[in-house]
Amino acid sequence: MLAPAPKPWIMEIAPYVPGRATTDDGRRVVKLSSNENALGTSEAARAAFASAADNLERYPDASGTMVREATAAKYGLDPARVIYGNGSDEILHLAAGAFAGPGDEVIFVRYGFSVYEIAARRVGAVPVVAPDKDYATDVDAILGHVTERTRIVYLANPNNPTGTYTPRAEIARLHANLPGTVLLVLDHAYAEYLDIGEDDGGLELAKAAANVLVTRTFSKIHGLAAERIGWGYASAAIVEALHRIRLPFNITIAGQRAAVAALGDSAFVDRSRAHNAKWRTWLAEQIASLGNTGIRAIPSRANFLLVLFEGRLTAEAAYKGLMEAGYITRWLPGQQLGHGLRITIGTEADMRGVAEALRRLAGQAG
Ligand SMILES: *Cc1c(COP(=O)(O)O)cnc(C)c1O
Repeated sequence: MLAPAPKPWIMEIAPYVPGRATTDDGRRVVKLSSNENALGTSEAARAAFASAADNLERYPDASGTMVREATAAKYGLDPARVIYGNGSDEILHLAAGAFAGPGDEVIFVRYGFSVYEIAARRVGAVPVVAPDKDYATDVDAILGHVTERTRIVYLANPNNPTGTYTPRAEIARLHANLPGTVLLVLDHAYAEYLDIGEDDGGLELAKAAANVLVTRTFSKIHGLAAERIGWGYASAAIVEALHRIRLPFNITIAGQRAAVAALGDSAFVDRSRAHNAKWRTWLAEQIASLGNTGIRAIPSRANFLLVLFEGRLTAEAAYKGLMEAGYITRWLPGQQLGHGLRITIGTEADMRGVAEALRRLAGQAG
């Protein structure tokens, strides 16, 4: 029988694997697998979300005016140059859709965010992996992989799943040495978790340069992952190209309202940042204190730790043991991290429970 054939590059995509919420036997346990906010969502955002229950027959504002104006006011931007998406994931895909195609090259780091490879392959582009430097971003390796076919460089800062941070001077050096025809996409999904006043300079580059797109999300520190709202900032020309291929009503009314309220609740954001910093440090210390077990955490600036298992206890056994103990983490064999678990920073009780379970598992492995 005849059947339509998907484009060959579509069949090369390894589908995105989301964080799990249940165990193998279907038990609902503590979810530390998707970097969601341990403190939930701001009450103001919840109330704004609920207010959208009226007039469900109406389409949302297709031009995302509320979100553009609120983000522009908060960060000193031109609202006309703010793009918005169904999660920042949509904006990452829009960038590939508008700026890359069959045969073009798209660079990202090894141990980078898995969506970049999918976004590149989806448009028929060739994914190019730049090696890391002990799990951190190596700007020289990225620059070393630029060719005349390079169209996009994707870089998350802080990076997921490693949690590593590329300092401002390195981001500036990366940008300064990229050809002006290459779009630099700086993914700031975790930028709000950096210390107050710390900043990689991405938004300033996006304001001034013709080839920088910064993406941000309401899914992480704002605790609105369910509503799928992201935004981005770039030159008017880049944003105009992205709008051409965006779906007409890509962000919902409830999401727009909740996002604007979340942006206004800086007390919630500050609380989330402080909670995260405290328990990230605590968990990293607990892991360091496991001693000679071959277990170590990569220093993280985000809301998770990448924990490597290089001794008797394997990451797979730790993953299963933690699941047995009631905690789902992210084991990433599909990203060449079969020896690593990414653990989201949760509540105090979650972190104490995870640390205790890890200590027990490491002890049992001898
Ligand atoms: C979570 C995450 C995003 C955000 O995804 P949304 O689509 O906005 O929910 C983007 N980039 C990275 C690196 C992430 O970890």
